[in-house]
Amino acid sequence: MINYDSKQEQSLVLVKPDGVQRGLIGESIRRYEQCGLKLVALKIVIPTKEQALAHYSVDPEWAVKTGTKSIESWKAKGLTPPTEDPVELAEAVRKQLVSFLSSGPVVAMLWQGMNAIGVIRKITGGTEPLTSVPGTIRGDYTIDSYSAADGDKRAVRNIIHASGSVEEAKAEMAIWFKPEEILSYRLVSEEILYDVNLDGILE
Ligand code: GDP
Repeated sequence: MINYDSKQEQSLVLVKPDGVQRGLIGESIRRYEQCGLKLVALKIVIPTKEQALAHYSVDPEWAVKTGTKSIESWKAKGLTPPTEDPVELAEAVRKQLVSFLSSGPVVAMLWQGMNAIGVIRKITGGTEPLTSVPGTIRGDYTIDSYSAADGDKRAVRNIIHASGSVEEAKAEMAIWFKPEEILSYRLVSEEILYDVNLDGILE
């Protein structure tokens, strides 16, 4: 068990180049902001290839998980995967992701609040646009699929990156923000979200 105050949980979100080009910066911020989370850092940046590679190297298990998932999805569609080696397949995906992420401006944000990681992943929706459910950002604004992306040898266009765990968020925020760019402040709305004692509302 991690000794961690979930009200202070932070999640790194990127509006990827497709989200920026499609005018979805404001809509994405609106959804995260209106659920009650607090924006503690924000910037627009054109990532370097090194920065993008660092971002997609945070999780040491990522290549095995992604490659295995990808092989399964090729087979589920009755197709033969280009390789049976999950790491080899994931490395090809990683190259495409790095090239995509560094192709243009990206908006990096750090959101804070109770269960920020889970809440943001719920609002963002599932990774593959084809199956991300309506009502989520990816479900509402994307039409891509892994097979279309793989066929074109490009990254899937799914608008957002969101941290998958507390450890991932900590490693990712160090890639995108200097400590002094992360603000510490109070929102008055936190009283209604978190305070046990609401005496004082009535006059
Ligand atoms: P996320 O946290 O929802 O973005 O998903 P992951 O961390 O599992 O994957 C990171 C990125 O890799 C995703 O946003 C996709 O662009 C890409 N990706 C993940 N799995 C696959 C896959 O099976 N096939 C392809 N083509 N891309 C994938």
